[in-house]
Amino acid sequence: MFISKPKKKWRRRVATAALGIFSFMLGVSLFARPYRPIEPLPGGIVDMHCHVAGIGAGGSGCFVSPKLRNSWKFGIYLRSFGVSRKELEQLGDDLVPDRVAATLGQSKYITQAVVLALDGVIGSNGWLDTNLTEVYVPNEFVLAATARHPNLRFGASVNPYRPDALERLTWAKEHGAVLVKWLPAIMHIDPSDPRLEPFYRKLIELKLPLLSHAGQERSFSGATDSYGDPEKLRLPLRLGVTVIAPHIASTGKYDGERSSERLARLAAEFPNLYSDISSLTQLNKLGYLGEALRAPEFSGRLMYGSDFPLVNTALVTPWYYWGRLTPRQIFAITREKNPWDADVLLKQALGTPAEIFSRSAKVFDFPPAAKTPFKPRALSPGS
Ligand SMILES: [Zn+2]
Repeated sequence: MFISKPKKKWRRRVATAALGIFSFMLGVSLFARPYRPIEPLPGGIVDMHCHVAGIGAGGSGCFVSPKLRNSWKFGIYLRSFGVSRKELEQLGDDLVPDRVAATLGQSKYITQAVVLALDGVIGSNGWLDTNLTEVYVPNEFVLAATARHPNLRFGASVNPYRPDALERLTWAKEHGAVLVKWLPAIMHIDPSDPRLEPFYRKLIELKLPLLSHAGQERSFSGATDSYGDPEKLRLPLRLGVTVIAPHIASTGKYDGERSSERLARLAAEFPNLYSDISSLTQLNKLGYLGEALRAPEFSGRLMYGSDFPLVNTALVTPWYYWGRLTPRQIFAITREKNPWDADVLLKQALGTPAEIFSRSAKVFDFPPAAKTPFKPRALSPGS
């Protein structure tokens, strides 16, 4: 068939470009190296950082602000949990943790996940401020899920500005909470506020670690980033609280200094400071896993967390690690359909050592699965 000269030229250019790209990628993959040598996986891995949420269906008490509901992120979150809005409306929010537990139950590597409640913003009257709260996941909702599913553990959340915050902590501990989670930038908590000292002392008394997010927060439609400055955690650290600042406080800068470097300095100073490797393989955090695994300050302080459900979105794929992983590894991880197993395999292939995968089971005081029988909390402001 007759092909015109310009067309021929164009085809040759495309073929040359394709060959160039192929050779480049082949070259890069030949020198693919993980951040650290690969180690075998330990058994019985615990994921200490897993989210659940709900829209309030079935009387769950969960809450999502209209602003977030109308944001493009909302549909992605629902899909990543493996549910649809219609299903939730018909079957209730319990479907979310039920699906999480079922997917986790199929994992080859993870045996348990700590699912996190999320308290809201507390107004000056001591009540939950539903205008300022973007997402609210009540402790009771998470506790009920952990009672239904032995592979889910209770991660409580208590805003320290609640008038009955200390009673809430005791209640949470009695009901098997393994940690207390804060999102200071979203819950409007200043971790360096001296008024929080009694709360911190209660955490120590109850042996409850504080999982407090640091760094910039971009999963919500708005955040007060100054509360995420790792330096603000100095007060609870000095008092002796076991603090876990997840994902090495990525991302962002404070006073011109990278947030993760500020956290590293604190880690060198305080042996009671831990972090996790949740979300560090996300597209917006490329390079952070390498930093976490290599920084001497974080050695012996990191634990495995997934940040589910974000790990179940396009934000995470082994294809972002061309040059770190071989094509064979990339294809093997892509074929893994269980989101937890894909996360574990990706982090292992990038050089996450076995001790990180097994640390959370050691740091947390995991009581046996049978807990105190469910006892509804007395009604109090903000309930
Ligand atoms: Zn998270």
